[in-house]
Amino acid sequence: MRLLKSGCFWLLSVACAVSTAACSPTAAQTAGQAPAARAAILFEGARVIVGDGTTTIDNAAFVVQGNRITSIGRSGEVQAPAGATRVNLSGKTVMPALVDLHSHIGYEDTTANDEDEKNFTRANVIDHLERFAYTGHALTHSLGNDNPGMFDVRYADNPASFVDLRAESQRDSFTGARYYTIGRGLAWEGTGNPRSSAPYPIFKPLQARLAVRELHAQGIKFAKLWLEDRGGYQIPGEKGPFVLSQDSYTAAIEEAHRLGMKTIAHVKTLADTKAMIRAGLDIQTHPIQDVAVDAELLALLKARPNFWVIPVITPAGQGGSAPRAPGERPKWLDDPLLRAVKCDAHLESWGQSFVKSKRVPTPTGNLTGENIAALRKAGVRMALGSHDAGGTRPLGWGSHMELEAFVNWVGMTPREAIVAATSDAAKLLGVDDQLGTLAVGKSADFLVLDANPLDNITNTRKIADVYLRGTKLDRAAMAARWKAACGRTRAT
Ligand SMILES: [Zn+2]
Repeated sequence: MRLLKSGCFWLLSVACAVSTAACSPTAAQTAGQAPAARAAILFEGARVIVGDGTTTIDNAAFVVQGNRITSIGRSGEVQAPAGATRVNLSGKTVMPALVDLHSHIGYEDTTANDEDEKNFTRANVIDHLERFAYTGHALTHSLGNDNPGMFDVRYADNPASFVDLRAESQRDSFTGARYYTIGRGLAWEGTGNPRSSAPYPIFKPLQARLAVRELHAQGIKFAKLWLEDRGGYQIPGEKGPFVLSQDSYTAAIEEAHRLGMKTIAHVKTLADTKAMIRAGLDIQTHPIQDVAVDAELLALLKARPNFWVIPVITPAGQGGSAPRAPGERPKWLDDPLLRAVKCDAHLESWGQSFVKSKRVPTPTGNLTGENIAALRKAGVRMALGSHDAGGTRPLGWGSHMELEAFVNWVGMTPREAIVAATSDAAKLLGVDDQLGTLAVGKSADFLVLDANPLDNITNTRKIADVYLRGTKLDRAAMAARWKAACGRTRAT
């Protein structure tokens, strides 16, 4: 009986990972409770940023029925269905919920401010998905460190496993952001603490091929390749570098393409980036950090119009997303949105580290910002990744920093930054049939903002309400729960 049930959930999970169309609420709800009928809601009076990069509707009206947008236009032109509830959003701005393509969830104990694989439980992953929802995300894409015991079908009889969470997170009743995962990435043995034991340890091309085949069998669409020596196993007597070999990552890319998958690499040097692009890499995440990008790289990219970059330029501990003076404590540490998802005590000690640090972001974002700006200027496609994991990368916060960095350092307009965080991110992941824009037929996933992010991109942090799948989140209850867990009340 148990096996049968698990098998069913697995099929559903795979269907969801392969095709979002198969994850309509009707399909997802067959595994759970029957949907409750919900009255239509007419939202009127807001400025709506559609997310397509061109359209803003002033004094807009839109109708949500169940989890879908069924009508959108100007106030007065949109008919409310009989019995519809009306919500007045005058003075507010509405934009699509964010789609985050790079996170590492499940590891942080947010109360202890401690990242450890022992924390990777179903309950903790759901808590993190709720933090992403609170901060305005429709979805986060967990990039390669998921504990195999938790999502792999072979562990489905383990009561702690959550092989079904991919499907469960699509349901209307789910209170967090959608959970998309690439499962386990491919890396040199032992690299990347504290998340080093989850990825496949790869020394040889055959291991790379087998790992990619296994991911494919689990419905995973992207294979992650880490190409960095991050404290991994060192072969005695050899000099290194101890990283994925060129023949191993080439085998992984070939195998992925043979199976209709794409590859995404954590790669930070110019030479490695060129070599991986020549091997057929599809997506780079992280900026090049060793030297300035050169004409040869730009020429390689020009020949690859479908290549994408997920920049991840604000590892927040290194200074954030705007210029500031030496020793200055960033003002965003006091942002109520950040204060809701991160304990006060941990923000205090983080703030102190800025006061002591001599590191100062330049007006260009240093070499990393300049390199991403150069790629952007050359026309390389970009989508947002928060890189949130815990510690100084608070869960749910990084996307808002990254949006600001896109404007300050990469040269995007606020509208272009929003596109990278919504419709373009949804396109790259293949979920643009549901997410990323506000249009008829799309899932009703949107933010209600107190100020217009087209005027100032940091206004994406001024969130009045979040709606996911047509339902308003109870954000006050979420924040109260997290604050209580922090062990002390907020200083007033
Ligand atoms: Zn990462």
